[in-house]
Amino acid sequence: MTQLAYEQKKRDLIRQLQRDSGAIRLDKTTSNLFRTRAKPDDNKIDVRTLNQVLAVDSENQTVEVEGMTTYENLADACLARTCMPLVVPQLKSITIGGAVSGIGIESTSFRHGLPHESVLAMDVLLADGDVVTCTPDNEHADLFFGIPNSYGTLGYILKLTARTMPVKPYVVLQHLRHTDIEEYFGAVGEACASDVDFVDGSVFDGEEMYLTLGRFTDSAPYTSDYTWLKMYFRSIRERREDYLDLRDYLWRWDTDWFWCSKNLFVQNLPMRLLLGRRRLNSVTYQKVMRWNNRLGLTAAINRLMDRHPEGVVQDVDIPLENAAEFLRFFLDEIGIRPVWICPIGGHDPTRNFPLYPLHGSGLFINFGFWDIVPNPQKHEAGYFNRKIEAKVSELGGVKSLYSDAYYDEDVFWKLYAGDKYFALKQKYDPRGRLRDLYQKCVLRK
Ligand SMILES: Cc1cc2nc3c(=O)[nH]c(=O)nc-3n(C[C@H](O)[C@H](O)[C@H](O)COP(=O)(O)OP(=O)(O)OC[C@H]3O[C@@H](n4cnc5c(N)ncnc54)[C@H](O)[C@@H]3O)c2cc1C
Repeated sequence: MTQLAYEQKKRDLIRQLQRDSGAIRLDKTTSNLFRTRAKPDDNKIDVRTLNQVLAVDSENQTVEVEGMTTYENLADACLARTCMPLVVPQLKSITIGGAVSGIGIESTSFRHGLPHESVLAMDVLLADGDVVTCTPDNEHADLFFGIPNSYGTLGYILKLTARTMPVKPYVVLQHLRHTDIEEYFGAVGEACASDVDFVDGSVFDGEEMYLTLGRFTDSAPYTSDYTWLKMYFRSIRERREDYLDLRDYLWRWDTDWFWCSKNLFVQNLPMRLLLGRRRLNSVTYQKVMRWNNRLGLTAAINRLMDRHPEGVVQDVDIPLENAAEFLRFFLDEIGIRPVWICPIGGHDPTRNFPLYPLHGSGLFINFGFWDIVPNPQKHEAGYFNRKIEAKVSELGGVKSLYSDAYYDEDVFWKLYAGDKYFALKQKYDPRGRLRDLYQKCVLRK
């Protein structure tokens, strides 16, 4: 039934694309992009109904799912069959198509890589209305490997098949404190070589860093609840051990948008009582942020008070051997705290995704930081973001493109495999109905 419905939705989209001409863009219900784009007069492709889980095969550990399905719905469908996708990004409204064509990550990434690395096949809607099925070894393998980090500029994922893994009902956590940056990253490397199931970390300062290790478990003496009055990120500093229901573990960062809910003034008891469980989540915060951007409230207050704060909302991936240097630079010169860290491993050297080049087979460390740098002086636009871009390149890292980017065009194409990208663009979108990656991610067109 759902398969038939999928075929019908696909036919409708194909018809729409063949009927219209000119530029196109996605029409979706939610988004976790952090850069605002100009609202051009493009034809909107309504993909909102492509949000169904088509089949969970817990015997062969695969799931077949439509591209706009949120990870919340996908994880629920899988958990009902005692399995989960190999990597479940932390925000409930991230969709599987968004995480594969943008880049996602979570605490299983030290073993399973990024979400796109567990994909087996994809149906991709091309700008001229064709739909191609691509796999790592068919005639569209170039598109299969080119889609990650293409942000919808080569085509839209309508459906994909991905690997899953068996799960247990609970997760037991250990929060291990470190006070020395070198030792901390040494411990991260050791944890990734051990038999734990989940690894991530929270840096509150250069002398207060936590490594959080998680293991699946069949039973729990108690379970903590961080979906309303208590905040998960605070528990890291307060407890050495904790037990969570697996579903609550997967969404532990969603309730307070990691710790960013502070900017919406909801980290106090009266506000939490007022809002209730249902409104404390990343979807609410995204909506508030978009209203604020549309109305220009914060920008107007800053202008009035002659303040020049700069939003620094980024995720960057740095080779483990350079992680200590990056963290020192970041704490000294950017100063945002806390910082989330998450190791990335499990690379299969036979599967090379050119647009998101994590070179070599060693571990990378993802640093996530999402805040405002209060900037009393007026600098050029993107002053702090540019510093980060330069440091990431110097240390052999890669920056995600879901937020602001300031690269010059020639530098950008060197970093993100321009030669390979334009060959794909020429083959799969020769009329340029979809904007290119630089136009979309840097110029915000
Ligand atoms: C504050 C913040 C924190 C973040 N933290 C994390 C994190 O911890 N873990 C994590 O994994 N990720 C994180 N992200 C990044 C997030 O995963 C990516 O931005 C992802 O692309 C968002 O997916 P979405 O479904 O919301 O897509 P959207 O925001 O709707 O779209 C993202 C881009 O992908 C394109 N796109 C969307 N769907 C498709 C599709 N089906 N086919 C082709 N292209 C498509 C869109 O055109 C757009 O360019 C974070 C982002 C922010 C802003």
